[in-house]
Amino acid sequence: LKPDTIHPDIVVFGGGIAGLWLINRLHAAGYQCLLLESASLGGDQTLASQGIIHGGLKYALSGNLSNESEAIAQMPDRWRAAMAGTDSVDLRNLKVLSDTQHMWSSGSVASRMTNFFASKMLRGRIEKLKRDHFPSALANKAFKGNVYKLDDLVIDTESLIDTLSAPVRDRLLAFDTQRDTLEWNNDGLRAVTINGQRIEPRLTLLAAGNGNPALLDGAHRAHLLEQEHSQLRPLKMVLVKHDQGHRLYAHCVGTSNKPVLTVTTHDCPDGKVVWYLGGDLAERGVERTDEEQLHAGREELSHLFPWLDFSNAQFATLDVTRAEPKQHALVKPDNAYARRDQNLIIAWPTKLTLAPDLGDRVMALVEETGLQPGEPLTIPPALQRAPMGVPYWHRCF
Ligand code: FAD
Repeated sequence: LKPDTIHPDIVVFGGGIAGLWLINRLHAAGYQCLLLESASLGGDQTLASQGIIHGGLKYALSGNLSNESEAIAQMPDRWRAAMAGTDSVDLRNLKVLSDTQHMWSSGSVASRMTNFFASKMLRGRIEKLKRDHFPSALANKAFKGNVYKLDDLVIDTESLIDTLSAPVRDRLLAFDTQRDTLEWNNDGLRAVTINGQRIEPRLTLLAAGNGNPALLDGAHRAHLLEQEHSQLRPLKMVLVKHDQGHRLYAHCVGTSNKPVLTVTTHDCPDGKVVWYLGGDLAERGVERTDEEQLHAGREELSHLFPWLDFSNAQFATLDVTRAEPKQHALVKPDNAYARRDQNLIIAWPTKLTLAPDLGDRVMALVEETGLQPGEPLTIPPALQRAPMGVPYWHRCF
């Protein structure tokens, strides 16, 4: 006997920050949703991200902090509201790794930075620290630069995925791209059949990051993608596992308009910490072999922290690709992106930080369709739950 077709209001593809944030918002508004994930919850990018929820201050480096940065400027407060339980997505159980993010400049550029960071535009959002307030990794007599405190926060991405999954756990389903089938029509997705169970949604949301292009191709809506000018930006991150105990969340700025290095600190199950290194090192790293990148990582650390000994540390690299709508590097601050074509919505958060902005944009598009929440849905047994993802630093050493 064939199981009866089910009719959720909305099917969401992708279980990274975009899909999980959106299903939480839609669920809170009463919509009956299912999320389909083809690998594991946490995504390609989300669990690999550095977890920095930033208000756009790094655009100040290129002199492009302006009114246009305001959407992003509000994001740290939106996350704090969600963490206090007063936003439309409930993040009260989210673990915060750091309430602040630091920015430091090495001796050679320190004076230029002092004038710049003292500018009127940045007053109140950035604070120059006295030496006794420096993060421990920089509290050494040999360090000659300046350190600034930013109003950004850093969150634990594993706890983010757990927190967003909990209220909708039975709605987060495994989707097997080999076995399961999709049927498109002129309006959008007509049906998806998972393990023999047919599902006909009223609306479909594509929030599958790197998987969006293939889904749009299947929907014969490649034109949408072209109009959005999506881009893939590969990175080669470096992970350094050590037992020195310093917890650093900071950008190092040099003479260019991009951070030379961005360091975040994450916990391993054995009590050691991992410094996760991004910034220019990771962008340039795509031109290097793993060996060369490990060498470059070691060199960068000994150049920036000559007083710290990483000789016993373990090093690893991670290749990961960012998928986002096209931007012009740091020339113009970015927003989340969402667009509707009939009963299909395509969503790119652009950054973890911009998830609340993405939520607002998608809710507006859903409301535009006039869709009303339908009858409560029972999840048939053929539909299996998607597995939870595991952070890379738990697995790579
Ligand atoms: P993903 O997290 O990649 O999730 C997409 C999901 O869709 C995946 O789980 C995938 O398996 C699934 N999928 C793919 N195809 C299909 C399909 N056909 N069917 C069903 N599911 C499918 N942003 C910040 O704001 N702060 C930071 O500090 C930061 N650091 C970063 C560091 C790195 C190294 C990287 C790579 C990114 C960083 N970002 C940061 C950006 C941020 O991580 C991404 O913008 C965000 O995580 C993208 O989320 P997403 O849900 O769109 O994609």
